[in-house]
Amino acid sequence: MLRIGLTGGIGAGKSTVSKVLSELGAVIVDADLIAREVVERGTPGLATLIDRFGEEILAADGALDRQALAARAFADDESRLALNSIVHPLVGARTMEIIESVPEDAVLVQDIPLLVEGGMGAAFHLVLIVCVEAEERVRRLVGSRGMLETDARSRIAAQSDDDQRRAAADVLLDNNGAPGSLESEIRALWSERLVPFESNIRTRTVVTALPALAPANPQWPEQARRLIGRLELVCGDRALRIDHIGSTAVDGLPARDVIDIQITVAGLGTADDLAESLTAAGFPQIENITADDPKPAYQGGETDPALWGKRIHGAADPARPANIHLRVAEWPGQRFALLFRDWLRADAEARAEYSTINKGAADKASACSSVEGAIEAYVDAKAPWFDLAYRRAWHWAEQTGWSL
Ligand code: ADP
Repeated sequence: MLRIGLTGGIGAGKSTVSKVLSELGAVIVDADLIAREVVERGTPGLATLIDRFGEEILAADGALDRQALAARAFADDESRLALNSIVHPLVGARTMEIIESVPEDAVLVQDIPLLVEGGMGAAFHLVLIVCVEAEERVRRLVGSRGMLETDARSRIAAQSDDDQRRAAADVLLDNNGAPGSLESEIRALWSERLVPFESNIRTRTVVTALPALAPANPQWPEQARRLIGRLELVCGDRALRIDHIGSTAVDGLPARDVIDIQITVAGLGTADDLAESLTAAGFPQIENITADDPKPAYQGGETDPALWGKRIHGAADPARPANIHLRVAEWPGQRFALLFRDWLRADAEARAEYSTINKGAADKASACSSVEGAIEAYVDAKAPWFDLAYRRAWHWAEQTGWSL
C-alpha cells in the first residue's frame, strides 16, 4: 500500500485535489470527515464529550452543537487538551480501521488539514501540498464557500505559513490558476509516480538512476532531510545516527541524481531486522550487495573484508532515487562515508578533482547500452581514485583533528 499525506492551507484546494485522485482510483481518507463521524449521535465518542463538557454541547435534536462545544473546549488550555485527548485517539483508531480494510495494492490518500502543524509528514511515503497565495484563498473562501472575510483571515493566520508547508512537501501542487488547471498535473503524478511507486513497493523493486551527472541541486539537502525523517520513524533507536552522505550532501557539486543516506547501526543483525520495515516504508533491499570494496589500509586492520560488510536499500519512488546504506558503527566504511563528505565539503581542490572524476566516469558510462552496464562502468571508473582518496581523506582528518 502506498500512503500519501495530502494537505494545504484552508481554501487551497485539498478537497478539489482529492476528488481528482479519487476519480483516478485512490482511496481517500478525510480526517475532517472522520472527526465528525466519531462524535455522531449515538457514538461512544459523543457520550464521552457529554461526560466531560455537559449536556449543553447538544443541539435540540440531540446531535453535537459544534459551536457550543467550541465555546467550552476552547475556553482554556485544560479544556482544549481534554477535547483533543477524547477526539484524537478515536480519529486515530477509525483511521487505522479504514487503512486495514483497503486492498494491499491501494493508493491511500489521507487528507489532513493540520499535517504540517502536527509534524506527521514522515509517516507517509509522500506528502502532497496544495498551495495558493493567502489573499486568493481568502477570495475563494469568501466567494464560493460564503465564509466571513474576518473568519477566513483568522483561520489562515492560525495555520502554518506557506514556507513551513513547502519544506514538508515532496510534491507541491500550485493551485493559483483557473479551476481545473491542475488536473493534468495530478493525472501525470498519478500515472508516472504514484501508481509505479505503489507497485514498486509491492514487488520490492528499486528505482535505478542512470549514471549521468546533474547540476548541483539546492533541493537535495531538503529532499534528504525528508527521507531521513521517514527512516528515523522506521528505525527508532535501532539507528545510532542517520546522515546525508555522498555527492548530493556536498554543496555545489554536480552529481548523479541519487540521494545517499547512511544509517549507522550497532551490528549487521540490526540491519537485517530492519529490512522488512524499510521495504514497507518505500525502501526495498538490494539483496545482491552485502559489502563495500575494502580500501587499501591507512591505519592498518581495515583491509579485513569482514569489516566492510553492509546492507543497502534503494528507493521505490520513481521520482526520487536513493541509496540507503546500513553500516556498522566504527567500521571503516561507516567512518569513511562521513569523513569523505566532510573532506569534500572542506577542501575545494578535492571537490574540483572529484567533480572531474565523476564527469569522466559518467562519460564512460554513457557509452554502455544497458543500465546495469553503465552503472558498473561508472563505479569501476571511480574506484582507483577512491582508493587514493581514502588515504588522502584520512591524512586530512589527522591534520585537522576531524572526528566523528
Ligand atoms: P480545501 O479543501 O483545501 O479547504 P477546497 O478544495 O474546498 O479547499 O477549495 C476551496 C474553494 O476554492 C472551493 O470552493 C473550491 O471550489 C475553490 N477552488 C478550488 N480550486 C480552485 C481554482 N483553481 N480556482 C478557483 N477556485 C478554486
